[in-house]
Amino acid sequence: GATLGVLGGGQLGRMFVHAAQAMGYATAVLDPQAVSPAGLASHRHIRAGYEDREGLEALAQSCAAVTTEFENVPAGSLAQLARSVVVSPPAQAVAIAQDRAAEKAHFVRCGVPVAPHALIDSQAALAALDAAPLLPGILKTARLGYDGKGQVRVTTSAELADAWQQLGGVPCVLEKMLPLAQECSVIVARGADGALVHLPVQRNLHRGGILAVTEVFDGNVPPALENQALAAAKSIANGLQYVGVLCVEFFVLQDGSLVVNEIAPRPHNSGHWSQDGADVSQFQLQVRCMAGLPLTAPRQHSPTIMLNLLGELWRTAVDGTALAPPWAEVLRLPGCHLHLYGKDQPQPGRKMGHLNITGADARTVRATALRAAELLGIEAF
Ligand code: ATP
Ligand code: MG
Ligand code: MG
Repeated sequence: GATLGVLGGGQLGRMFVHAAQAMGYATAVLDPQAVSPAGLASHRHIRAGYEDREGLEALAQSCAAVTTEFENVPAGSLAQLARSVVVSPPAQAVAIAQDRAAEKAHFVRCGVPVAPHALIDSQAALAALDAAPLLPGILKTARLGYDGKGQVRVTTSAELADAWQQLGGVPCVLEKMLPLAQECSVIVARGADGALVHLPVQRNLHRGGILAVTEVFDGNVPPALENQALAAAKSIANGLQYVGVLCVEFFVLQDGSLVVNEIAPRPHNSGHWSQDGADVSQFQLQVRCMAGLPLTAPRQHSPTIMLNLLGELWRTAVDGTALAPPWAEVLRLPGCHLHLYGKDQPQPGRKMGHLNITGADARTVRATALRAAELLGIEAF
């Protein structure tokens, strides 16, 4: 049978590998770590750096198609792979998603509303900027940020100058702080023929810059906003000539308007609920895109809530070993689906797993999710 490959050994790679194997594919993971969540689950693990030419060559040789599970893959590596194997998403789409400035320029080209912002890529640009209309704001590194890392909130021009130094004087985007009513995201999958399907719009709760809870049920996001979000996601994906799974994150402002925040060129934490709440998961969509299989519209069959399981939920025993949360108590609740990533070093903020809670109706799911959160020591939502 054919082999499907993935660059990166994290949990997204692991869940992709599981989905690919369930559909009869062998898998290959390229990752520099000896032990990684995806490496542990894969038939083959090529232990090499993301820019290692021999490693990339070995991946290309053994695979029918290759994908990536993180956006910071060096563009040259995707280009090298694309010379001998099908790569999705395409290198130029990943390059745009890697850079907040290029990403925002793409949103503007697509006619999608974005937060007021300015690029600060030099001391001269900083000095020339009239920052007042963008304050209070958030200074974000243009590249390599995730989970709120590489961001500083600033209220004055002096704080802005300090923050830019603090972030290393690298290219940054200053974004106006917007009054958020809620956050949401949508997962779309686009095939090589341009066919596009999507999961329902997901409502997300972030804490400390990290996704904490995703809720997906009717009435959760106003229908007019859902339609706007879908239209925006479609035009963003079409504009990139995207092939693969794409997540688009949105802000809903207090005045009811919708603003696009950022995109992830891959399955996304906010789409994990689809493993248990929909008849096609975001990882199955990724496999279908890569293998050139038909994309059918996913159908949500259950209201679902996803709780992220971060490292702080693990207690430390007196001998220093990590004590797992009370899984058995949680799994006694109906409709709880536990997903753990095979990481053995819990740290605060580290994504260790997630819990999907499904049920017959939204009220039941919420009640169960709140009970599970209480058992796990997750703050109520
Ligand atoms: P991810 O892990 O999703 O890639 P990230 O590090 O790229 O996260 P962002 O999505 O840019 O970070 O921001 C993280 C969170 O910070 C957002 O989900 C939102 O809660 C808040 N935030 C970011 N930008 C703004 C803004 N302009 N106004 C208000 N809140 C914001
Ligand atoms: Mg991001
Ligand atoms: Mg984000």
